[in-house]
Amino acid sequence: MKRIAVLSLVLVSLSFTFVAVSARHQEKSSPPRQVAIRAGTLIDVRDGTTISNAIILIQGDQITQVGTGLSIPKGTDVVDLSGSTVLPGLIDCHTHITSQSGNYYEDIFRKSPIDVAVAAHVYARRTLEAGFTSVRDVGAGEFIDVALRNAINSGTVVGPRMQVATLTIGATGGHADTTGFSPYIKFGSFAGIADGVDEIRKLVRFEVKYGADLIKLIATAGVLSEEESVGAPQFSQDEMNAVVQEAAMWGKRVAAHAHGAEGIKRAVRAGVASIEHGSLIDDEGIALMKDRGTYLVADIYNDDYIIAEFSRLGYPDKIIEKERKVGRAQRENFQRAARAGVKLAYGTDAGVYPHGWNAKQFAHMVRWGLTPVRAIQAATVSAADLLGWSDRVGVIAAGHYADIIAVSGDPLKDVTELERVKFVMKGGVVYRRP
Ligand SMILES: [Zn+2]
Repeated sequence: MKRIAVLSLVLVSLSFTFVAVSARHQEKSSPPRQVAIRAGTLIDVRDGTTISNAIILIQGDQITQVGTGLSIPKGTDVVDLSGSTVLPGLIDCHTHITSQSGNYYEDIFRKSPIDVAVAAHVYARRTLEAGFTSVRDVGAGEFIDVALRNAINSGTVVGPRMQVATLTIGATGGHADTTGFSPYIKFGSFAGIADGVDEIRKLVRFEVKYGADLIKLIATAGVLSEEESVGAPQFSQDEMNAVVQEAAMWGKRVAAHAHGAEGIKRAVRAGVASIEHGSLIDDEGIALMKDRGTYLVADIYNDDYIIAEFSRLGYPDKIIEKERKVGRAQRENFQRAARAGVKLAYGTDAGVYPHGWNAKQFAHMVRWGLTPVRAIQAATVSAADLLGWSDRVGVIAAGHYADIIAVSGDPLKDVTELERVKFVMKGGVVYRRP
């Protein structure tokens, strides 16, 4: 998704104090000391096996024990999910949680970063209530993602655990830039634009300085912007190498937005952790990703939404035409990459379509070749691995955060059950009950 650009025809300098962030503060009381969950069926996402009548013991925000026949200590709060299927909280590795597509020109010309910032917590809550207890947010304007992550971590705002990328890093005139307007219209927002190795290294440092957990590289052209092509590379090999090397120096991984075959290969050779979209990947790219262990994060649901809704939202025909060109190819190429054994992590581009619909992509992944268990693994164990968080999320196991969801039916048979999550716990606190 393209960041929301902010117009300032005159130089606007905003200096304000953020007061009284949320009336929801402290709405959820602090977690009870001990909780036990009775799980009718527990899915072990590591191997797709199930355990009947399991008990999960939780202390504070962590799971302490999982198994059958465990005794529940006196004074423990018991959550009865004995009629449900229980699995780890889901993870979306490609969100833009701070904003959501509205009218194209209104978003660009009538909204300021403050409009975006005040609404962001609404999307965070919707995402969590849909069962997504962690997200990797890959691009937001004005460091709003950093503020949101911090507000969630401090308990001021309700939302998923977040890793944030801050500004996407792209070339002048590329997908991260604001294109299609007169050169005399100046946009006053922070721009994630850098050309050449030195500027790139400086921009990575700037983002890390202000709170980036990972770096988002725009390796090729994109769909939701007005450059001509969708697949052309937008950085040289040297420039992409600089992004990854500089990020690594600061201990950060890189997610690369890449649709075109050549840009995908450059990004993989540079050593990115994941290819986002991957729409026009070729056989060489697939082999390279497999060889390097690069994750593919393919947002194969949102094409339906863009085709159905974006004309009404006033998006230029040029953009919708680009989506028509790549949507189908992306799904076919996802299937080829999955068959070849490329590592997959779940990522949807939520924000392009409404937040809270994150689970709609599972059905598409199954339609395009995955077993339900592999689709669920993409959104749990594999996603946790991509985030570098395997020690804390993605499985229901002792020592991990008590991030737990439940559904009525069996998602291993009907993966659309995940669109109807009945119970959500994050860090031992219940946010949704049956
Ligand atoms: Zn995106």
